[in-house]
Amino acid sequence: MTESFGAYDFVIVGGGSAGCVLADRLSASGKHSLCIIEAGPSDRDPRIKIPFGLIGLMNNPRYDWRYRSAAHAHLDGKTVSVPRGKTLGGSGSINSMLYIRGRSSDYDQWAALGAHGWAWDDVLPLFKAQEQNLRGADALHGGDGPLHIQDPPSPHPLTEVFAEAGEQMQIPRNKDFNGPSQEGLGVYQTNMKNSRRWSAADAFLRTALTRKNVEVFTNTAAETIEVEGNCARAVIVNRSGAKGRIDVRGELILAAGAIDSPALLLRSGIGPGADLQKLGIETNIDLPGVGANLHDHPAVAVFHGNGPTGYGMALSALPQLIAAPFQYLFGRRGMFASNTVEAGGFAKTDATLAEPNVQFHFIPARLGHEDKMIVYGRGYYCDVCLLKPRSRGALKLASPDPTTPPTIDLNLLSDDRDYDELLEGLKLLRAIMAAPAFDAVRSPELAPGPSVQTDEQLRGYIQSRLGTAYHPVGTCKIGDLQSEDTVVDPRLRLKKAANIRVIDASVMPEVVAGNTNAPTMMIAEKGATEILASL
Ligand SMILES: Cc1cc2nc3c(=O)[nH]c(=O)nc-3n(C[C@H](O)[C@H](O)[C@H](O)COP(=O)(O)OP(=O)(O)OC[C@H]3O[C@@H](n4cnc5c(N)ncnc54)[C@H](O)[C@@H]3O)c2cc1C
Repeated sequence: MTESFGAYDFVIVGGGSAGCVLADRLSASGKHSLCIIEAGPSDRDPRIKIPFGLIGLMNNPRYDWRYRSAAHAHLDGKTVSVPRGKTLGGSGSINSMLYIRGRSSDYDQWAALGAHGWAWDDVLPLFKAQEQNLRGADALHGGDGPLHIQDPPSPHPLTEVFAEAGEQMQIPRNKDFNGPSQEGLGVYQTNMKNSRRWSAADAFLRTALTRKNVEVFTNTAAETIEVEGNCARAVIVNRSGAKGRIDVRGELILAAGAIDSPALLLRSGIGPGADLQKLGIETNIDLPGVGANLHDHPAVAVFHGNGPTGYGMALSALPQLIAAPFQYLFGRRGMFASNTVEAGGFAKTDATLAEPNVQFHFIPARLGHEDKMIVYGRGYYCDVCLLKPRSRGALKLASPDPTTPPTIDLNLLSDDRDYDELLEGLKLLRAIMAAPAFDAVRSPELAPGPSVQTDEQLRGYIQSRLGTAYHPVGTCKIGDLQSEDTVVDPRLRLKKAANIRVIDASVMPEVVAGNTNAPTMMIAEKGATEILASL
């Protein structure tokens, strides 16, 4: 007999960016009981709260699932890292805190693809309702929501150099990437409050936890869903080694993210029947779209190092390193207040394009261009990612065993047009970094390095150093019910199921042109509204 850990009106799997919003919104009336099942621990660690602490989170097995992609056959077997947060707040507790929504055409495109009710005019009020922008409210921004958005308190002087370099390359300066136009370079706004990370756990879950109708199970992994007919009855969990069940009285909501929500469905016999059969999993609901349409922003970086400035480990940086904890403790400023990716922006690699096709992430710090992240020296780093990749991969199970990571076939750059566009992005990025604005503070380019110049050499560099912007989406996409590959309807109800929804980054039919945290929290806001309206 499996132990029962209780029964709830709403059972939410995953306490990440989406799960925390859902917990708050669905519990507010006090009429319904709910629980969150979260595989990771609590998010109390100071490294999660202090912005610069994020350098100790990625690749840390306590807070990161540390997935890797499948080998890319067309890229000589290359695999890339797929970090995913594993703690309350989810990936939003280990991310760089950039507050970016994408652009209006992203959502209009979703609506055109069958996500009726998700056009820009539908979703803008939801973004605004969540936001409390320290700059104040206006037509595009909210001023009194729970999600605090602020400018970085003391951006490194190199961020100004980066924006100036852009201007020298005829890329305008942009002071608000969520404003009327996305194009341009500048400093990113962040989800921080008083210069501390302000994740969905801080903004939404803490409020929910003050209510009696909310329970959170940390260190508890959902292994499978117990399905009867087309109904979810319970979630079978592993709670710090103890097996048990959590019963679903009303709805089961999957918010485990674009990798783990489809993986949980597949383990539970919900997905492409033929694939399930091969693994010996009985098909409960045959849904060919589960796990398909996986995509992410492919990215490649340029590294500058051994120069006079930038954060880093060097003798000349010693005064800065010694001052950093005090500056943060007493003024919430300095290196510890840095979210690392302080600047960046959006640009067109071809002036005839209607909208930007690449995004930059500039870090005023020396990062290792080999395997190590932290190395000796000072410098700076910037990556470029492709905003609207056409390549698509798939998420599949490697085994029915819940402790075996799924096969994450990102299939990056499988469409040649993506390769060509990223190559142009890399050339543009190098040109920005070579602009005169950097002359007085320049660190030599360490990678790709001065010997890498021809298109062929740059392609080789892309192939060897390709990564992503850590924005996997699309594996349970919203769509028209008539369409074969739709996984959830526009109300985020799982196709062919009676009481299951998927509400997280996996439902994006197409990745937004920007970072995915704010869009995911918006998805959860809308998902909660849909659920409450259906009661
Ligand atoms: C390193 C990094 C940097 C990023 N930087 C930015 C940025 O600066 N700005 C931005 O907008 N976006 C950024 N992103 C992306 C953004 O954070 C994510 O898109 C967003 O958090 C996804 O939200 P989600 O709710 O879909 O999933 P998550 O936030 O990942 O939440 C899923 C949760 O489910 C839990 N879970 C998974 N499987 C199970 C299971 N079987 N049982 C129980 N619990 C489970 C996980 O532990 C996790 O807590 C970054 C992501 C990463 C990884």
